[in-house]
Amino acid sequence: MFTITQNYVKAESLSQAYDELMRNRNNRILGGGMWMRQGRKRIPTLVDLSALGLDTITQTGQGIDIGCMATLRDMETSPLLTGSLQILSKSVSDIVGVQFRNTATVGGSVYGRFGFSDFLTALLALDCTVHLYHGGKVPMRDFVNLPYSKDIVEKISLTIHDSCVASYQSLRRSATDFPVIALAVAKTGDRWAISVGARPHRAALAVQTAASLGAVPSALELEAAAESLCQELTFGENMRASADYRRDITKVLFRRAAEELLSAEQQLGMERSPS
Ligand SMILES: Cc1cc2nc3c(=O)[nH]c(=O)nc-3n(C[C@H](O)[C@H](O)[C@H](O)COP(=O)(O)OP(=O)(O)OC[C@H]3O[C@@H](n4cnc5c(N)ncnc54)[C@H](O)[C@@H]3O)c2cc1C
Repeated sequence: MFTITQNYVKAESLSQAYDELMRNRNNRILGGGMWMRQGRKRIPTLVDLSALGLDTITQTGQGIDIGCMATLRDMETSPLLTGSLQILSKSVSDIVGVQFRNTATVGGSVYGRFGFSDFLTALLALDCTVHLYHGGKVPMRDFVNLPYSKDIVEKISLTIHDSCVASYQSLRRSATDFPVIALAVAKTGDRWAISVGARPHRAALAVQTAASLGAVPSALELEAAAESLCQELTFGENMRASADYRRDITKVLFRRAAEELLSAEQQLGMERSPS
């Protein structure tokens, strides 16, 4: 458990929160505290954002905004996260249990950029922007590779593309454990996005493999893409699995994801133009 050595500040504005954060290099923002409580950090000032109304999920002109204090459970229960955004719900559904997900936040999960993160893997495949209080708007594909800096994740914005279909797949050795591999695929027309996390490194996009796929790939092309995916990204070993095992599973999960989203796309097409 962490120790607050000086102050607990319930911020009244984001600017106050940022000022408090910057006062000492060891000051921290509090999300759900579920990750922080695993460590033994001594934190001079802990800054609580819970009074700022940042726990909402709202529809905007182009998509959906999710405040940093929304919980992972909100990803499962919000009626706004429909269509391709349902992969957000699927990505968190195996994380520990409902009580845990009622507390862990979107802000803590995004800022943490954990290698094992299911949620980050799903977000990376979608058209997602991170809003930092100081650093401004950063596309998720860039944010994921940024070094940790002192800033506040205020919200994330998801742009909705009507024709986008997506699939989320993961493998765990046992329920509630960290994933051995996490994979998300999204497709809008002939544009694919393939994100693989828990390799055990942080989620990354397989840009070249995605670019090699067209609107209606054949089974052979999907097979080649599964191989190429494992060449393009790096895989490593930890207590959960070897790099080779992770590659093998990635190929299987990619094929499953592709089949699932191609059939969802067909279904969507039939619903839109019934003959
Ligand atoms: C036992 C356990 C098992 C888990 N299993 C999984 C799993 O299988 N899959 C998975 O994807 N995830 C898993 N997680 C991670 C979890 O889903 C959350 O991502 C994690 O707990 C962080 O969310 P939090 O709200 O608890 O953040 P906190 O613990 O509050 O914060 C984490 C870090 O983010 C910073 N922070 C928090 N909010 C903000 C903000 N708005 N702006 C800037 N910085 C901020 C904090 O200062 C801290 O450095 C697990 C975590 C635990 C503890």
